[in-house]
Amino acid sequence: MARYVYDFTQGGRDLADLLGGKGANLAEMTRLGLPVPPGFTLTTEACRAFLTTGEEPAGMAREVFDHLAAVETAAGRRLGQPDDPLLLSVRSGARFSMPGMMETVLDIGLNDASVLGLAKASGSERFAWDSYRRLLQMFGSTVMGVDPALFERALTLLKDLRGVPDDVHLGTADLTELVAVYKNLIRDETGEDFPQSPAEQLRRAILAVFASWNGERARLYRRREHIPDDLGTAVNVQRMVYGNLGPDSGSGVAFTRDPATGRPDPYGDYLPDAQGEDVVAGIRNTVPLSELQRLDPVSYDRLRDHLRTLERHYRDLCDIEFTIERGTLWMLQTRIGKRTAEAAFVIAAKLADEGLITPDEALARVSGDELARLMFPRFDTSAAGEPLTRGLPASPGAAAGTAVFDSAEAVRRAAAGEKVVLVRQETTPDDLPGMIAAQAVLTGRGGKTSHAAVVARGMGKVCVCGAEELSVDTRGRRFTAPDGTVVDEGTVISVDGSTGAVYPGSVPLVDSAVMRFLQTGDGDGTASEPVGAVARALTRADAVRRLDVRANADTPEDAARARRFGAQGIGLCRTEHMFLGERRKLIEKMILARSDTERDQALAALLPLQRQDFAGILEAMDGLPVTIRLLDPPLHEFLPDRTDLAVRVAAAEARGGVPDPHDVELLAAVNRTHEENPMLGLRGVRLGLVVPGLVAMQVRAIGEAVAERTRAGGTPRAEIMVPLVGDVSELRIVREDVKRVLAEVSASCGVPVTCPVGTMIELPRAALTAGRIAQEAEFFSLGTNDLTQTTWGFSRDDVEASFFSAYLDQGVFTASPFETIDRDGVGRLVRIAVEEGRTTRPDLTVGVCGEHGGDPGSVHFFHAAGLDYVSCSPYRLPVARLEAGRAAL
Ligand code: PEP
Ligand code: MG
Repeated sequence: MARYVYDFTQGGRDLADLLGGKGANLAEMTRLGLPVPPGFTLTTEACRAFLTTGEEPAGMAREVFDHLAAVETAAGRRLGQPDDPLLLSVRSGARFSMPGMMETVLDIGLNDASVLGLAKASGSERFAWDSYRRLLQMFGSTVMGVDPALFERALTLLKDLRGVPDDVHLGTADLTELVAVYKNLIRDETGEDFPQSPAEQLRRAILAVFASWNGERARLYRRREHIPDDLGTAVNVQRMVYGNLGPDSGSGVAFTRDPATGRPDPYGDYLPDAQGEDVVAGIRNTVPLSELQRLDPVSYDRLRDHLRTLERHYRDLCDIEFTIERGTLWMLQTRIGKRTAEAAFVIAAKLADEGLITPDEALARVSGDELARLMFPRFDTSAAGEPLTRGLPASPGAAAGTAVFDSAEAVRRAAAGEKVVLVRQETTPDDLPGMIAAQAVLTGRGGKTSHAAVVARGMGKVCVCGAEELSVDTRGRRFTAPDGTVVDEGTVISVDGSTGAVYPGSVPLVDSAVMRFLQTGDGDGTASEPVGAVARALTRADAVRRLDVRANADTPEDAARARRFGAQGIGLCRTEHMFLGERRKLIEKMILARSDTERDQALAALLPLQRQDFAGILEAMDGLPVTIRLLDPPLHEFLPDRTDLAVRVAAAEARGGVPDPHDVELLAAVNRTHEENPMLGLRGVRLGLVVPGLVAMQVRAIGEAVAERTRAGGTPRAEIMVPLVGDVSELRIVREDVKRVLAEVSASCGVPVTCPVGTMIELPRAALTAGRIAQEAEFFSLGTNDLTQTTWGFSRDDVEASFFSAYLDQGVFTASPFETIDRDGVGRLVRIAVEEGRTTRPDLTVGVCGEHGGDPGSVHFFHAAGLDYVSCSPYRLPVARLEAGRAAL
């Protein structure tokens, strides 16, 4: 029979799939001998069984009560014991952290009798009644389904009646009254009394926490974080300890290092005389850990010891939750801590220096996404003026947007394309949709470990929290800065998550220090710690990676930039980009030519311009391969817009009549739904076969540029790439043309010019017949943009804006296949192409030049598929280098 319950002494961190992150780590801490209140974990398997059948799994209740007996023995008290009750917390804990997204029920075991016992045993009546009303509130809403706002309303009413500002000012009599009110509320709302049986409370709380896996917030968070829906959550049942028993008690959150900067000192927030929930909710402002050192030096020293133990054991930044109950320190949770991108690099480098991890492990600890975040621009503080206020820099980055004061408004405005900053007094998990929609989050209360900060950091979203000087009036939809400036909803503000400053208006942006370093090799003259850490990670990645990285670039400037970013060549030079602007007229002439002579003239005019482009690019990339793709897009791309033309024609014909309103409506609908793509007509290699002289002109321009660069003493390495090939014969015909023209150029220039000729693999037929195509192709470059389009039948220019969000919501895929390679479908074609191509031609070079070449997840796939290089836009090169290194570990 399945086993559904593990005591904390029986688990361990290797059982995280089964026990969830929290349960596994509680067990690990217990085994390390740290002071963890005793308890046990119900497995994710039990949750899955419950969610599938809707029934409590057979045998689970028995196991729970066996384990409960052990906890009772250890505590020397029984659950709900009338004179001195053992009380329990029931908390969710999934495999992947989902902060605040599921339910928790505390103080299980209190009832009308044991509340009196708790009052006596704790020596505080007020505490006992406050705990009871918290249980009623949590159990009533989470387990019995009462609207939580009703409890809040009753509490507010009582505070108003008593004329007190917050709940700490309510006395024992008030809380006793509140308990009666809550009990009535539960009965009125559900037709059922609050269960007095502690065993029933426990059982129902466990099932409610299981059920919260499928709550709306939890589902939204999982979608956003790409956490699978079928994992289920574990549930941890643990003896309650209290941080709200007076000034010698308190709760806090700590990190073994600073999660914002990576500095190697413990960092944390502490709230005296409070429960852990109060710290995370950001309801009252916390004090720094240094204050705990003053208040309770013994607990502080113990805490530091435990932090050290944990960091050495986990060999990484850990975050923990702790409670001090009348001078006794308890550890309630630990996990590998979320950190900012900057801290990720700094911590990895530091831990390697300390010998705790190897250089390869340090590389594994950072990601391309984090590097990309460090490359984002920062505010130009010299142009910013005085900030409105400063809060805590909780999640770095620079973002501007209009201030909005609730989640729904943020979602509404963002959907209409507006950039917004979500301003709240404090956030709750219900604000998640607004946080996702916003560019930045600003809160008036709460520390760097508050919900807003933790969630924003996890999402890489800019966040400033605890801006205490602001008076946030959520109802009035405005906040007031200390200097009296009133910022109403809709006003633009700029939020600097790296410094905590909030500015009026939209502050201009400048390059980040990491970006400056990557572009110039210099980090502001002085390599700052994060810049140094990034440099080290990239050096390691370059040393271990097997994949080369090339750039998609079509100007000498882009080529030069790409080289500075570490490009080892150009993987895709799109020649159509050279036919824009002024030159459009020339190609237009070619298209409209009424005779061979006219066309030849147009092509002849283009030739020197193309040659000049190629020479510049070959010079910037001297010594490195430059893959030049022959013209690809359909020719209408070079002609005026169809609609503009239609309007011009219609206007010319117009006789001054009023258009039929139905026609106007229809035209609007046609324009809205008109799909240009997929362009699968006369384009790619097909142009080469049917437009006389086009290939010859481009190849001549390339050949002459190569000759020119060779004569100038350079080492040009041009490669000629034919797009959209579907059959080997297409490539054969074009290749013969290419060889002929190159021979002519060699003869006329007196310089031998040879260029490898290869093809793009961007049609399923090309992938499936790659073995044959490789007879003619000296290299392959996977055009995964078109390959994705043609494999899925998705028009690449139309689908993302039209229905992809519905597909993501419904879980058809967790990321757009145009961003991250679809391993099962497109990926399979890639593997076939590589394998069959190399069977024909064992030394065939295979790269990828679709957008996926710069996507972290896809880079790992291309490494595993045996590609030689990835090619991406110059700005993605550092990310590709880093991920190629990580893929090789
Ligand atoms: C591709 O299809 O992946 C590709 C790189 O070509 P383009 O994006 O220019 O169609
Ligand atoms: Mg393509």
